[in-house]
Amino acid sequence: MFRAILIEKTEAGQQCRIAGLEDAQLPEGEVTVHVAYSTVNYKDALAITGRSPVVRRFPMVPGIDFAGTVEASTHPSWKPGDRVVLNGWGVGETHWGGLSQKARVQGDWLVRLPEVFTARQAMAIGTAGYTAMLCVLALERHGVKPESGEILVTGAAGGVGSVATAALSRLGYTVVASTGRTNEAAYLKSLGASEVLDRARFSAPGKPLQKERWAGVIDTVGSHTLANACAAVRYRGAVAACGLAGGMDFPSSVAPFILRGITLYGIDSVMAPPELRREAWARLARDLDAARLEMISREIALEEAIAAAPEVLAGRVRGRLVVDVAR
Ligand code: NDP
Repeated sequence: MFRAILIEKTEAGQQCRIAGLEDAQLPEGEVTVHVAYSTVNYKDALAITGRSPVVRRFPMVPGIDFAGTVEASTHPSWKPGDRVVLNGWGVGETHWGGLSQKARVQGDWLVRLPEVFTARQAMAIGTAGYTAMLCVLALERHGVKPESGEILVTGAAGGVGSVATAALSRLGYTVVASTGRTNEAAYLKSLGASEVLDRARFSAPGKPLQKERWAGVIDTVGSHTLANACAAVRYRGAVAACGLAGGMDFPSSVAPFILRGITLYGIDSVMAPPELRREAWARLARDLDAARLEMISREIALEEAIAAAPEVLAGRVRGRLVVDVAR
């Protein structure tokens, strides 16, 4: 028997509980993993609360990511004892996920855990941090360099925002952090932000073209925030958009694109190709300061993950929640 969070659909609606499960109940897959840590990402919070239709099959074990050790494998790349990390691929949505003491997945979905990280540190990064690095890589590939100018990070006190701020500042970029929690200014500055702005200045409708300021943007918020960020990107600058914490809409105009030649990159972590994942994890190993990871994350037990979900959606959780699935 092992313990997992289980989401079931009943006539009364969606229900979520800690369940005792048998190995035989695990889904089909080539690799069985002893999960050490998982996390509560924004998407996990949507799944656990049922606020958005993230879960596509019931019953479902949520958890879009995990880190642990291979227990059994029929896949040529993996053998028992290998340390692995998984992000996305529909895990926690259509395939049982990581908020569990065991998981069974396809071998191609796994990435070898970089040696510098413990399983706990890997989940302090989690899908949020790996997505933050996908955003950094998109800006770099565009040619945005530290000397290009300031980088705006929105939703900065959240998971993606915290890791993006820490990684960019370690790489030498000047980071301006936008947050609704200005009481977290000291936290954001300790991660490397040079300036902290109140998110209110981005959240209302703004002019289609604004004073040019940002060489690059990492946006986790969407809606007017993304539109205002695009409107103030410098000539031929770039925006990496990965989130919708403020809304799904994008009430922008073509003006910044056709008059300033800016580029908007869409960032998806779920189906990203394996070589890009390996690159992102290698760069996280190189470009994240482990001491800052400690500041970014807080550990909770498996049982606490259910109650934490509405807190995440309310934007009351700072940084990342790491889940010790053994507790
Ligand atoms: P968190 O909940 O940790 O952070 C989200 C942050 O967004 C909050 O901390 C808050 O930051 C800000 N925020 C919340 N509500 C609002 C609002 N109404 N208006 C403006 N800002 C708001 O989530 P994550 O960092 O894990 O994820 C951020 C976003 O990125 C989510 O939308 C998530 O779904 C998405 N995501 C996408 C991925 C992809 O593959 N594309 C992968 C991972 C995440 P503050 O308090 O600083 O203002």
